Amino acid sequence: MRVWSIPLRTRFRGITVREGALLPGPGGWGEWSPFLEYDAQVAEAWLRCAVEAAAGDWPDPVRDRVPVNVTVPAVGPERAHEIVTAGGCATAKVKVAEPGQSVGDDLARVEAVRDALGPAGRVRVDANGAWSIDEAVAAIRQLDTAAGGLEYVEQPCASVEELATVRRAVDVPIAADESIRRAADPYRVRDLDAADVAVLKVQPLGGVRACLRIAEDIGLPVVVSSALETSVGIAAGVALAAALPELPYACGLATVQLLTADVATEPLLPVDGWLPVRRPDVDEDALDALAAQPDRVAHWEARLAEVRDVRQDRPM
Ligand SMILES: [Mg+2]
Repeated sequence: MRVWSIPLRTRFRGITVREGALLPGPGGWGEWSPFLEYDAQVAEAWLRCAVEAAAGDWPDPVRDRVPVNVTVPAVGPERAHEIVTAGGCATAKVKVAEPGQSVGDDLARVEAVRDALGPAGRVRVDANGAWSIDEAVAAIRQLDTAAGGLEYVEQPCASVEELATVRRAVDVPIAADESIRRAADPYRVRDLDAADVAVLKVQPLGGVRACLRIAEDIGLPVVVSSALETSVGIAAGVALAAALPELPYACGLATVQLLTADVATEPLLPVDGWLPVRRPDVDEDALDALAAQPDRVAHWEARLAEVRDVRQDRPM
């Protein structure tokens, strides 16, 4: 196991450094990078994804590239316009409902994004569960008008029940993201008719093949998103996006640039809004340069041992 530590360009999820491990196998490297606060039970699904990758056990792709979105943080309209123009993507995901900001700030940002994308581009917004039901219904109607039509709204409220209520009150499609963290969650979203789109991440849900089965079972269109991985982990998300029978939406996999460095010789960065379907080669020198401190390596080794215990107890 090789443990790496990479600073982020900006704070994300309250962290400034991303830590994780690469595990070797006959099929190449697999990334195991559960967030630090996750217990062994949760981190076990993430390990299944790494083991599958290291075994080289991915389904055959049905496409050779996948569309990705540019992400616009809660910045002012001029900066939002610049980010979208520089991003070169046909789809933009705009952060809204930022604490301390108003719906007016969100409307100005979304208008600027539409202006930068042109009429053919797609605009989606992500509230990260921050709105109440009433706030969501009011904001979504206004944002839909300001955007000249929203593709969808991601996680307008925190709970699955609230998503279901908002979904019945607005015409804009609803996507579930934070509501899907464990393998059972997508089924709950489906059973409560809480979303039109499921955001799936390969590490928390146990790998590419597990996600492919979930997608088939729930019958909802899927947006494949990252968990802020290096290019090695992103390749697993790309493998899922490449294998899905239908891919009607751009994926949230253009996140390698949020890290200040990468472990690949050729990082998986988008070109004109697309990621190629390939497994990047690991740069051994980069891996040495990004190696975590010995105490952190010891922490990850202990964590891996704990997760392996959970695996043995897991019913087959
Ligand atoms: Mg989201």
